[in-house]
Amino acid sequence: MITRHFSIPVTSPGAILRRERDLGTPLGQETAEVLRSGGLVSDKIIIQLIEDWLRLHGGHGFVFDGFPRTLPQAESLNSMLARLRTALDLVIWLEVSEETVRDRIAGRLQCGECGFTTSSSSAQFANRPVCPYCDGRLERRNDDDLGVLQTRLQEFRTKTEPLASFYEKMSALRRIDGNRDREAVFSDISRLIEAKNAK
Ligand SMILES: [Zn+2]
Repeated sequence: MITRHFSIPVTSPGAILRRERDLGTPLGQETAEVLRSGGLVSDKIIIQLIEDWLRLHGGHGFVFDGFPRTLPQAESLNSMLARLRTALDLVIWLEVSEETVRDRIAGRLQCGECGFTTSSSSAQFANRPVCPYCDGRLERRNDDDLGVLQTRLQEFRTKTEPLASFYEKMSALRRIDGNRDREAVFSDISRLIEAKNAK
């Protein structure tokens, strides 16, 4: 939605890793195995992939979705950006309750071909689980198993939560209530981006 609305390239570690996997690179194969078993890919690998992506696509603005997730990732990003003589304008912190996370995970579908994600509650997909972009099959992600959730929540509390104060100190953090529907959240995000662009 951000790419379409603002023409800013968006990426996530997940999207980069799926691409590596589809290209059959050694890194892609190795990380596919880790992801299948519900594990997390190391900071070192994620940082390298993001840096490569940034060099190729980050020349005129960029958005990272789900990165950084740990303090080492955030610190590496800061030095990467310093080397590229740029800085973060905005860090958007979507506050989502545990209940919302459970509900969304239980209803999430993903295209096996291009990685497009949607929810099974979106009416237009209810009868025909086919990707609107590439006609790939929409399936439950196997890392969406609720059993993996506890581990992920624990990881979040210990590794990701500290990023809030890290970015608060840099005065870059803005909090948004993520427990609402997509449109409400997107309109808040748009307002923050527009305010930055206007400067
Ligand atoms: Zn697709």
